[in-house]
Amino acid sequence: MSDKKYDAVVVGSGPNGFAAAITMAKTGRSVLMIEANKTIGGGMRSSDLTHTGSIHDICSAVHPLGIASPFFNSLGLTSYGLEWINPPVAMAHPLDDGTAVLLERSLDTTINNLGPDGRNYAKVMRPMVGHWDKLLPEILSPLHFPKHPLALGRFGFAAGQSAGYLIFKNFRSRQAKALFAGMAAHSKMPLDKPGSAAFGLLLGAAGHAVGWPIAKGGSQSIAAALKQCFIASGGEIKTGMEIHSLSELPQAKAVLLDITPRQLAAIAGNRLPENNRRKLAQHRYGPGVFKMDWVLNGPIPWKAADCLKAATVHIGGTFEEIAGAEDEVWHGQHPEYPFVLLVQPCLFDDTRTPAGKHPVWAYCHVPNGSTVDMSEKIEFQIERFAPGFRDRVLFRSKMNTMAMEADNPNYVGGDIAGGVGNPFSLFLKRTPYKTPIKGVYVCSSSMPPGAGVHGMCGYHAAEKAIREMF
Ligand SMILES: Cc1cc2nc3c(=O)[nH]c(=O)nc-3n(C[C@H](O)[C@H](O)[C@H](O)COP(=O)(O)OP(=O)(O)OC[C@H]3O[C@@H](n4cnc5c(N)ncnc54)[C@H](O)[C@@H]3O)c2cc1C
Repeated sequence: MSDKKYDAVVVGSGPNGFAAAITMAKTGRSVLMIEANKTIGGGMRSSDLTHTGSIHDICSAVHPLGIASPFFNSLGLTSYGLEWINPPVAMAHPLDDGTAVLLERSLDTTINNLGPDGRNYAKVMRPMVGHWDKLLPEILSPLHFPKHPLALGRFGFAAGQSAGYLIFKNFRSRQAKALFAGMAAHSKMPLDKPGSAAFGLLLGAAGHAVGWPIAKGGSQSIAAALKQCFIASGGEIKTGMEIHSLSELPQAKAVLLDITPRQLAAIAGNRLPENNRRKLAQHRYGPGVFKMDWVLNGPIPWKAADCLKAATVHIGGTFEEIAGAEDEVWHGQHPEYPFVLLVQPCLFDDTRTPAGKHPVWAYCHVPNGSTVDMSEKIEFQIERFAPGFRDRVLFRSKMNTMAMEADNPNYVGGDIAGGVGNPFSLFLKRTPYKTPIKGVYVCSSSMPPGAGVHGMCGYHAAEKAIREMF
């Protein structure tokens, strides 16, 4: 590493690392980004995992919070080559009777399709969808005095409930219950935990307000656009360099770390006070993921043809089944019938694969650090709603939690969110982003507003660093 001095150094090139780096660079400051991997992008990378000439998303695949992100939208990423593709239906959820319940782009169509529960679905979703543009920036910010206290208060009240309670209070039909449960299960928490409803509300409203898009050419295109934007703002990037200690970094006024608390404890070492290191050691990581990718010789033969209208499919059957599976994972068990999140991008993006081949992406939650092979169970679940799926498989790739962590040290024990807990605990952190070391900040998804490809954690961390250090 040269002796060059920088205004800011950013460690890690995930969406939050890029957001922090770009926010700094756009104010005219010199910024160096250092990335351990040879490829930039962290959770936005894509590669030919099956060696078939296909583009597979290694981590993130579907981006409701990416297309909605106030920070990404301020950058004009389309002018740097990013193209969102929004399938006609945001998400499909097949049921055992051969039908599927759909999160339609249109709120009214979704309401109509839900029959008697439509009115209740409208009661839950319409206030959020109606105030989406005001609400989202509030939700994607750390603790602050809200500009729209009424709308935020209403969301906060509903979001603080458990998904199970919200479902019990509002829905009677199998369809509406399953639809909401699948979205809430993105929380990785048991659905009877307070706060688990937040994910169902946010993802459901996003489906109607902005859709659940994929990035044309794979999620790596988001990273590529962010890179172009960063370079155009004068930034420098060094890849293939893993940082083990703060002392390895070039001199800089501000250091922004796109890493999680356990890594901070290791990298900062004795520079952190003892009580802070103890606190970091207590940071709770959540369930991990077991991830699979396939190349098929044709589209998935869903019993419910409606599933072909969406890139994202939630597989797990009823609310009760999904709640049971997530509860087992939380308590350290591997469910027989896991809840599977599946994405079939090439139905809508033909740039990802040679003709006739269909890359498919899926994962299920497993206990943190699990090494159990869930591939049979995942494929059984898909086969349940799409008989003949296995006959179409040409190639498959599997990653357990250890492989996830080896691929990206932020995925501690396979936890893809940088930690778990009631989402409100994230927002109530008194001094998010700041560490006890002067000029050193954490900008990853372990900070508010949390996981997902949206860059808002990095943006807020950089804003704080700019206020305090420059
Ligand atoms: C299987 C999977 C599926 C997902 N699906 C979705 C999805 O569909 N939609 C969505 O929005 N989100 C999804 N996510 C979550 C999303 O990817 C993350 O929330 C997001 O990437 C977090 O961004 P980040 O910048 O905080 O960290 P990361 O994206 O994890 O980036 C951290 C970067 O820091 C680097 N790094 C770490 N330590 C060091 C070090 N010591 N030295 C140098 N570099 C270091 C890492 O190599 C990495 O590049 C998924 C994640 C996974 C794994």
